[in-house]
Amino acid sequence: MVAAWFGLAGGMVEGAEYWALAKLGWLSLNEALVDAGPEQIWVSAAFNLILFTALALPLWLAARAVPVEHRPAVFLGVFTFLSTFNLFALPDRLQLRGAFVLALGMSVQITRRAARDPAAALARLRLMLPAAAALAALLCAGITGGRRLHERWVESQLGAADAGAPNVLLIVLDTLRADHLSSYGYPRKTSPHLDQLAAEGVLFERAYSSSSWTLPSHASLMTGRYTFEHRADGRMTGRMLDTRLPTLAEIFSARGYRTGGFASNVAWASPRTGLARGFQHYDNLYANLTDMSARTFYGRFLRRYIHRYLFRLPRYPRRASHEITRAFLEWRDQDSQRPYFSFLNLMDVHDPRFSLPPHRGKFTGETSLPGGESPATLWKLTPRQAADRQEMIGEYDSALAYQDAQLGALFEALKQRGEWERTIVMVTSDHGELFGEHGLFDHGNGVHHAVVHVPMVLRFGDRLRRGVRVAAQVSQCDAGATLLELAGAAGTVLFGGTSLAPLWSNAPVPPEARAVLSEVDKAAIAKIPAEWPVRRGWVKTVITGRWQLILREDGAMELYDLKNAPHQVRNLRAVREHRAEIERLMELLTSQVAEARPAAEKALKGLQ
Ligand SMILES: [Zn+2]
Repeated sequence: MVAAWFGLAGGMVEGAEYWALAKLGWLSLNEALVDAGPEQIWVSAAFNLILFTALALPLWLAARAVPVEHRPAVFLGVFTFLSTFNLFALPDRLQLRGAFVLALGMSVQITRRAARDPAAALARLRLMLPAAAALAALLCAGITGGRRLHERWVESQLGAADAGAPNVLLIVLDTLRADHLSSYGYPRKTSPHLDQLAAEGVLFERAYSSSSWTLPSHASLMTGRYTFEHRADGRMTGRMLDTRLPTLAEIFSARGYRTGGFASNVAWASPRTGLARGFQHYDNLYANLTDMSARTFYGRFLRRYIHRYLFRLPRYPRRASHEITRAFLEWRDQDSQRPYFSFLNLMDVHDPRFSLPPHRGKFTGETSLPGGESPATLWKLTPRQAADRQEMIGEYDSALAYQDAQLGALFEALKQRGEWERTIVMVTSDHGELFGEHGLFDHGNGVHHAVVHVPMVLRFGDRLRRGVRVAAQVSQCDAGATLLELAGAAGTVLFGGTSLAPLWSNAPVPPEARAVLSEVDKAAIAKIPAEWPVRRGWVKTVITGRWQLILREDGAMELYDLKNAPHQVRNLRAVREHRAEIERLMELLTSQVAEARPAAEKALKGLQ
């Protein structure tokens, strides 16, 4: 009873505190990674209720060691402590030790006072328990119902859409590098459904993300702007998407579309980042108990432990592809009259990789990897790194096979609903993943080719030529403008990028006009490995038909010949004959990104 009361009441206080701190922007970046809405109040109450009640039994057994008259004090003491420790620790301003001492002091004071007349204290709690339970239930129903009503109301205010306006479905496969899809030349059969999609539409062989991590890339997809324009690079600064830039969802909403976002990446594709702006429905909240656990202090505490030692559960919640596609279809089925713009973020290939049978383990345990030269020698990996790499890629490819199967099922579901031919589908990714290239793993660490080269596939019934492969380099920043033009919604001021349609319709395109940029901001936080380029400052790149030039904030520079040396092992910066090329590429970069000029000058001086 004591456990239940403290779980409920303390949980509601924790939830309210968390929500308030998030609203005020006072949560540290570490704690703020998971989005907090008003739902937080009942979620924390429900989770703490379960946790505290579970703790009550072992505590009851342990309390048998103390005389019976002191047992209420033990219970009161433990649960007062647990319900205050999280409140002090939550803002992440105090060291855990400080929060511990404060909570201990407070719980001793409260318990001492209550222990003077334990029977009365318990009676009071008993009296208040139904009220706390009723309040939590009321908040749950009210907040959930209120959100739904609000969505309905927003939809009822939409203007009429153009007759025949197509649906638009933008699918981002988080962390998927292009060269692991069979249609991009990968020898393993990882992606039959995506390959089929490409065969029925347009495949961009050389699409590049605007950054190598989630937030800036998604922001570019939503606004058509490069990172130096939208500035959503808040890993260090807390900067989220600039509210002045119109988003795809806002533009489609204004044209009478229903708009729904479904993101598995709750850390960096959450409403807090600004990416949800313009979506009438944005679904990355509170799907299930493990989701909910990550939104509470003790839940995260346990996850950290469980993650490391038991299940490899990610510290932050996320949903598998089949859950995301189901949520999308449920939302879609609420109204089949209006056209929709929908955004899906799927995260299965992101570490820790996720797949289900029959795909789980499909490519693990193999003794050799597909693809030519041995990476261990190419990148001078240690034997340990090379073995890890092998297993990592096996899991990655298995996760991709699972994800691809889910996409196949989704496409099938849209066919059954009779809307496949009038739906524009774009599948892309927000960045790649490094498997030891340049001695690096993971992403968000630099702008090397493998981490910014992403798949991009587009299908729109018979409105596009089938099986077209575009060889020119393109930026993701142009994806939005392309979707808008295909949907007949182009011409919105302030939205960035230009439509890629001329590239598949064989209209003349100036050869170097579409030099592509990508950049990632400094990330000098303690947990970042020392070898990551972004530890010392920003890194930017410009990519043309043949070249990739990489410039760092400290003036370090790399030049790769993408055409003739696809592994990009040799940095050609010092090759004298490329000097003029380097200057031209530097000009392409600095004429757009003024911030890069001092580093460019330093780099060029270093060549003499
Ligand atoms: Zn990502």
